[in-house]
Order: sequence, then structure tokens, then C-alpha cells
Amino acid sequence: MEPLRITPRLHLLDYSIGQAYLWSDDGELTLVDAGWAGSADRTTAAIRAAGLDPDRLARIVLTHGHRDHVGGAGDLADRHGAEIVAHRLDAPYVRGELPVPDPDLLEWERPLWEHGLTCPEAPPTRVDREVEDGEGLGFGDGAVAVHVPGHTPGSMAVHLPRHGVLFAGDVVATVRGVTFGVFHVDRALALESMRRLAELRPSVLCCGHGPAVNEDTAEQLAAAAGAVAP
Ligand SMILES: [Zn+2]
Ligand SMILES: [Zn+2]
Repeated sequence: MEPLRITPRLHLLDYSIGQAYLWSDDGELTLVDAGWAGSADRTTAAIRAAGLDPDRLARIVLTHGHRDHVGGAGDLADRHGAEIVAHRLDAPYVRGELPVPDPDLLEWERPLWEHGLTCPEAPPTRVDREVEDGEGLGFGDGAVAVHVPGHTPGSMAVHLPRHGVLFAGDVVATVRGVTFGVFHVDRALALESMRRLAELRPSVLCCGHGPAVNEDTAEQLAAAAGAVAP
């Protein structure tokens, strides 16, 4: 897996189903999401390929409890001594204390959902720190947790206001341009969350699925949020 450079401090790691992002603060590293179970070797190699030291991985921030985002977190945290951070409402899913609630699937989403299930189930994974909306995350010159419920109850975006970077998790997707994400537990709530993210007017948008967007980003996100039928 080749890390894809988005900005000098930001790389995208692509696991074919789902993505993670690597952020560097002078070599101190944060992963936003962690790839599948069994992918830790690939992630460690990708961090090295980006010219960074995986043993400086300080934290893994999980946008939500789905397997394609959580699976690799435990291995990576154990290996490199990182702390795992998640929103309070998704922490029980990450720990395996509760099953992740089923999405309210639209007919056309069903085959995609079944394809997603080919990615291995995440093992129960510790959460070292549970956060709430508005809490600082300790990296990226002021990264803040933004609670964006609807995809899952504790879905969390990560906003870096000083850098104009927004990690939106799966509330938004960029697979076919900027669109509303898929597989939401509560579509109406997810749409409200997407509109809240649009108000942040990011210049770089990083989603769980699809390429990073860094041109006309705020306009594209606002247009996509406005285009969804409630
Ligand atoms: Zn996903
Ligand atoms: Zn998801």
C-alpha cells in the first residue's frame, strides 16, 4: 500500500474497502481510522514509506465503530504505544460490548453492504479515551471532535480549523464526487450532521471512502448537503 500524500502533513492510506489518514505534527503521528483487522503490517510499512517513524504514533482517532475503520487499531496501538480515541457513544461497539446497530439500507445499498462485509470483522478493541462533541484531540494545532450522529450513534468528524482539514468519517463519501454517505443507521440524523459539517467550510475533505477533495471543497460539500432529499 503506497501512502498518498495530500499535503506535506497529511497522507491517505487506502485499504481497498475503507481508508485511514495519517497526520504528522513534526513527526508525532496521529491516525484517523485504522484499516481492517490484519492490516497493521501494511499500515506500519506505509508509515515508513511516507518517511515517518511508526513508533511515533501517538494516537488513533476512530471516526466510528465500523469494522473497516476499527479493525487494525488494536494491533497498531499495541505495537507502537498509541492511545485509541473514540466518541463515547461508539466506544461500546469498538470494545465489542454491544453489536454495531444495523444500517437502514436502501435497496441499491444492499449489494454494496454485502461487499463491505467481506472485510474481516474487527476484534474487540480497547478505547483509552472517550470524547464528546467539541473536545480537543491533542494534535493538528487544535483538532476538535465534532459529534455527527446518524451513520452510527457515535460517529465523529475531526476538524482541524487552523488547517481547514475535515475528516468526515462515513457521513459524507467522495467515491463519485462529494455525496451523502451510505449505510446510515438514521438517515435523517446523518443528513443533519452532513449539513453541520458543510457549515465548517473545509478546504480539504477526507472521507472514509473516496479520494480526498481539495478544490472547491466547501462549495462541493454545501451543494451535496443541499442536494439530499430529507
Ligand atoms: Zn466505512
Ligand atoms: Zn461506516
